Amino acid sequence: MMPHWRHVPLRRALSEATGLPVLLEKDVTACAVAETWLSEGGAGRRTDFAFVYYGTGYGTGLVLGGDVVRGASANAGDSGHVMVADHGHRCTCGRIGCVGELITPHALVREAVDGGVLVAGDVSDDALAEAARRGDDVDMRRIDEAFGALVGKADAGDAAALAVLHGAGRHLARALVTIVNLLDLDEIVCGGPFWAPLSRHVLEVLPAAVRDDPALIPKHPIRVVESSIGIDVAAVGAACLVLDQTFSPRPSALLIRA
Ligand SMILES: [Zn+2]
Repeated sequence: MMPHWRHVPLRRALSEATGLPVLLEKDVTACAVAETWLSEGGAGRRTDFAFVYYGTGYGTGLVLGGDVVRGASANAGDSGHVMVADHGHRCTCGRIGCVGELITPHALVREAVDGGVLVAGDVSDDALAEAARRGDDVDMRRIDEAFGALVGKADAGDAAALAVLHGAGRHLARALVTIVNLLDLDEIVCGGPFWAPLSRHVLEVLPAAVRDDPALIPKHPIRVVESSIGIDVAAVGAACLVLDQTFSPRPSALLIRA
């Protein structure tokens, strides 16, 4: 989503500018780190969960057995291309029905414009045009304006606006069932910068849609909760990284390698 940012030595540049060591982490993983340190109920209470990060895009931070999952290139949790529908706009990956192409703020406002839910007068003409546009390089300030208008209509009880947000909840549920099945998780923690405005409406359908999905395998309860850390959870997680890097036990680092 930052098309001109490729091979930028960000960590080195920040380190040179500040004279300090710098840790760099994927945003969704930073959120998962924040939840392991600061979740309601105390540090370490959550051990097997996915953090649903709802920002400009959608991704999941993963924690298994209390350990944050990073993967071979520190890019674990990029779950936006889990296919959950047989309709919708074509994703950047070339396929139809990717969850990230269906539920991001841009996707929702575009669906609202396509379906006549957001019309001229609801938002500025610029925001309406930006909402309808394809591609990743949209102006998020205008998307944010359109997103606020869509959520405002849902808050006021507009059935068509509510249907858009409820649809997002059901699409998200299908993607999460795949992740829960794969990893046997018992908690889903939701948050991120665009989460709070629509949380009430999405949570009207999300927990039941996960629980009642015929493809759900685990028989234990799946708790669906909101992060209590707030809108800056990724930044809080980034700050926790310093503690995490220094104090979290890493069993793999203790292995004697021949
Ligand atoms: Zn895709």
